[in-house]
Amino acid sequence: MTEAAGKLTLVPTPIGNLDDITLRALKVLEAANTVLCEDTRHSGKLLAHHGISAPTRAFHQHNEHKVTEALITRLQQGEHMALISDAGTPGISDPGYLLVRACIEHDIEVECLPGPTAMIPAVVVSGLPSERFVYLGFPPQKKGRQTFWQELTEEKRTMVMYESPHRIEKALKEACEVFGEERQAVVVRELTKLHESFHRATLAELADQAQQGFKGEIVLIIEGKAHFEKRHKK
Ligand code: SAM
Repeated sequence: MTEAAGKLTLVPTPIGNLDDITLRALKVLEAANTVLCEDTRHSGKLLAHHGISAPTRAFHQHNEHKVTEALITRLQQGEHMALISDAGTPGISDPGYLLVRACIEHDIEVECLPGPTAMIPAVVVSGLPSERFVYLGFPPQKKGRQTFWQELTEEKRTMVMYESPHRIEKALKEACEVFGEERQAVVVRELTKLHESFHRATLAELADQAQQGFKGEIVLIIEGKAHFEKRHKK
């Protein structure tokens, strides 16, 4: 039984620079009954940095199935919960989807504040068309990786994906095979951090550079077929 309206607010947090948090995000975190964190120790530092002392509770990919029902009960009892991940927007290659879906199923109000996410600044400054793009998350690590690439062969829009520094060389080589060596791409590294950098080149050149290693956090952007063909007037 709903005693008072509870609410879940997804709150984006900085992807590197602690100043990248909105005034509204700080107000919501301060006022929340509970802040659900992917990692309470990691987020504790962010909260302490901003003088926020709201109670925290772990919510991550290893316990989200188990705890969702109990969280729904508390939301139904009127709690206001905020959900944050380690960085960026919850639900974007981070936990969030399951809880949002459960809130919708139980008629609980759910909102997401606008704020940091790595894919948006990466695609906007890539220099590749940003009017239409497709976000692909992380390529599967093993099973399904070949299919992931094969399904993109005819993709017309700019492709945006996340990849770990350990697998970026492999990803660039695989992309070369699927899209050809001349396709433009951008390796975006360490957004908003000291060593932020953009590496704009062909897939073949980037695969070559990757042998020296691309360190840090990476967004990989690949030109879509439409722009490639326009440049080559096919
Ligand atoms: N929820 C996050 C978001 O909204 O972007 C994404 C979380 S996902 C687990 C982490 C991945 O996002 C990293 O491996 C990297 O691919 C990308 N990422 C996060 N922060 C980044 C940064 N500062 N620069 C470049 N890529 C970043």
